Amino acid sequence: MEFIDLKAQQAALKSELDKRIAAVLAHGRYILGPEVREIEDRLEEYTGAKHCITVSSGTDALLISLMALGIGPGDEVITTPFTFVATAEVIVFLGATPVFVDIEPGTCNIDANRIEAAITPRTKAIMPVSLYGQPPDMDEINAIALKYGRIPVIEDAAQSFGARYKSRKSCNLSMIGCTSFFPSKPLGGYGDGGAIFTSDDEIAKACRELRVHGQSDRYVHTRIGVGGRFDTLQAAILLAKLERFDWEVEQRLLIGKRYNELMDEAGIQRVRQKDDRTSVFAQYTIFTEDRQVVQEKFKDAGIPTAVHYPMPLNEQPVYKQAGVGKTPVSSEISKHVISLPMSPYLTADDQQTVFRVLAAAYRS
Ligand SMILES: *Cc1c(COP(=O)(O)O)cnc(C)c1O
Repeated sequence: MEFIDLKAQQAALKSELDKRIAAVLAHGRYILGPEVREIEDRLEEYTGAKHCITVSSGTDALLISLMALGIGPGDEVITTPFTFVATAEVIVFLGATPVFVDIEPGTCNIDANRIEAAITPRTKAIMPVSLYGQPPDMDEINAIALKYGRIPVIEDAAQSFGARYKSRKSCNLSMIGCTSFFPSKPLGGYGDGGAIFTSDDEIAKACRELRVHGQSDRYVHTRIGVGGRFDTLQAAILLAKLERFDWEVEQRLLIGKRYNELMDEAGIQRVRQKDDRTSVFAQYTIFTEDRQVVQEKFKDAGIPTAVHYPMPLNEQPVYKQAGVGKTPVSSEISKHVISLPMSPYLTADDQQTVFRVLAAAYRS
């Protein structure tokens, strides 16, 4: 059993992938070629955002978004400590300061009720993360941002492409949404990639220029940008994968629901999903009492598991452990989470096997 089964997906898409890849090899426009514009059009349609700007990674999507907003030294960006390191790294990289707000214990997403207390005159953006594939309380977050002078809200949607929040799609829930096409993400390529979504024309223009070294016209540089272009081959692969994406999202919902039922029957604590949104279950994550025991049982059974994430970012060495004790929910949760195999191709039998190993670990 794979943690994320990309081979089954590849087998299902083989002919479409081959056709798309062959077309790129034939025209030879490997960087920002026609497939790049094509996937941007398709993803605009999919999310409902007016603009999609594909870039070299999810990390660069976040970085370029912050650059487009002019964020730099002296500025503060509110975010969650319970996320992948890139979320906070890009803030620090630009000389700004991440302000870590603790999470809700059920969803593990940023606790919208704690954001207002963290706002200062230096707050220049709020960057919530749609963790494990589920958007946080975006309406509440947007309302707080509006109340304090329309602070830009950037959804880190690296794990949640395809998720819904009320009637809208993740990536189109706030001023800016950023996703990742890293292979294991819900819409993953066969290499690095990412995208920025916005319906703001000015921000979109800035992002388009920033991704090619601040170039506004050929060899005319109006901003300091980055080398953040998207590969045509990756765009072609995403176009092939998009054919099956709706089906895959449906499968994710079904498999997530089936896991939930198994956990609930056995009284095993798990990440909760709220009724007004759907998670795409980028990870299926539970809370264990004794993680080490559970990890060992899975290891013995040859079933891969992972920990997202073992340490809140504000307790990482690079942040000089400055946040130790400051976000107690994140600290506590990081000791208990474990993610189980999850992909649209996980069979009901495999799920039963995972569950049997888990149940045995709990009995021991
Ligand atoms: C994966 C991920 C990123 C970074 O995306 P890359 O494409 O790997 O650069 C950022 N934030 C979160 C929450 C992620 O899961």
